[in-house]
Amino acid sequence: MGVGGSQENIHKKPVVLIVGGGYAGVQCAKLLDKSDQFFVILIDRKSYFLHNVAALRATVEENYAQKIIIPYDRLLTNGCVIQAEVISILTDSIQVHGYHDPIHFNYLVIATGSSYAFPGKVAEVASSKAISLYNNLQKKIKEAQQILIIGGGPVGIELAGEIVTDFPGKDITIVHNQPTLLQPKQFQDKLYARLHENLSKLHITVILNDGIQIPTNEDNPNMNYIEGRKTYVTEKNQRSITADLTFVCVGARVNNKSISNGPLQSKINPHTGRLMVNNYLQVDGYEKIFAIGDISDKEAKFAYIAADQANYVAKLIVLIEKQKPYPKPYQIHTNSLILLTLGRNGGVGQLPTSSGTLIGNIAVKCLKSKDIFTSRYRAALNYQSESDTETKTGYSHKLDSIQSILSVTEKDARDLLAGLSTRELAAGQDFI
Ligand SMILES: Cc1cc2nc3c(=O)[nH]c(=O)nc-3n(C[C@H](O)[C@H](O)[C@H](O)COP(=O)(O)OP(=O)(O)OC[C@H]3O[C@@H](n4cnc5c(N)ncnc54)[C@H](O)[C@@H]3O)c2cc1C
Repeated sequence: MGVGGSQENIHKKPVVLIVGGGYAGVQCAKLLDKSDQFFVILIDRKSYFLHNVAALRATVEENYAQKIIIPYDRLLTNGCVIQAEVISILTDSIQVHGYHDPIHFNYLVIATGSSYAFPGKVAEVASSKAISLYNNLQKKIKEAQQILIIGGGPVGIELAGEIVTDFPGKDITIVHNQPTLLQPKQFQDKLYARLHENLSKLHITVILNDGIQIPTNEDNPNMNYIEGRKTYVTEKNQRSITADLTFVCVGARVNNKSISNGPLQSKINPHTGRLMVNNYLQVDGYEKIFAIGDISDKEAKFAYIAADQANYVAKLIVLIEKQKPYPKPYQIHTNSLILLTLGRNGGVGQLPTSSGTLIGNIAVKCLKSKDIFTSRYRAALNYQSESDTETKTGYSHKLDSIQSILSVTEKDARDLLAGLSTRELAAGQDFI
């Protein structure tokens, strides 16, 4: 039996269930856990937070993957993190794979985010497997001489920058089907010009306004990079490009499967696949159900925006629980911000000032490229130093709390805290 409305839970703290432990979910969980007014349960199918903003560094730098794959086990003090795959989100409970009963909530924060082709993100549930995927890719990059990157958005550009910085002799080509790199007309003209200049100094070839038929890998249809020497011909200008290793960097997919089979399905914008929210980031029509980060239909999709939305929702939940007046509606970011790393030594950026101030190598290196916020996120998950390794603190001391809050047997509480198995991904599959 679950918690919703149960007599046992009447004098206990309200349960905030957060689905998805990415940038949005982790931030929201941490804030509400600190408030000590709620029992926070964060559910993620992985056992670790993936600091994917720095994932591309892990494709070239040895031992970097273990820095960005950070276990959840020290995240919460009062609540707990449960490793499980949410298969269905209802309006008063959720259902997870491998567990018989629904898990009820008082408040629900949906933060299921988006998936991206490896190496941009990785969906392996066990941290050791995720780390070895990055380590294996490092070897492949080292061995390849000609590298093709399909897609000249931020991920394709940053990947090229990482590879060329650590392996300056490699022959790298980016093919992008737009008239400029990134999305045209989103940033100052000068930003695009400076980006091209920097890439050209790094001897990266950029082909614009042309495309390549996304190749399929017959042996492994879900693989997101393609190994083995291949020659491609561009669709428009019939330009021939040979590559030993090909990356497909063409955008994110929304993680909405757990929503699309339940009553909130009608709240999914059919054009974007994301959840429609009101100006308080509540899923339209539900006071205590929120959507934040990449799953939300509001705003651009960035980690720093996901965290801002999490801050807002955490404050709002506290106010709603105390029956205080609502704050001002959530303010969307109106000025564009971008910090593009081109390896660890530099990059280009535009600050969110009204005039869109541009910044170059030195400033971008200090702000982002050198550390890519890795120390900040390790500290946020209470892994203080870079060498601080997993000690499996775990949440076993929460057994009694989980048992009484969810009104479950000791065995069920133990099973939940130990983590449930997830559905198998096909080899190389990066989305759910
Ligand atoms: C390579 C790369 C570089 C980037 N660089 C930047 C950058 O420099 N700056 C920036 O601001 N943004 C950057 N972004 C964008 C940023 O990563 C996203 O905006 C961010 O990840 C969104 O955070 P989120 O919390 O909404 O979702 P996510 O980070 O996608 O997290 C969602 C979580 O939900 C879990 N989940 C999903 N479905 C389920 C389910 N059914 N059951 C259980 N768990 C589930 C997933 O396992 C995951 O942990 C980058 C993206 C990529 C791919």
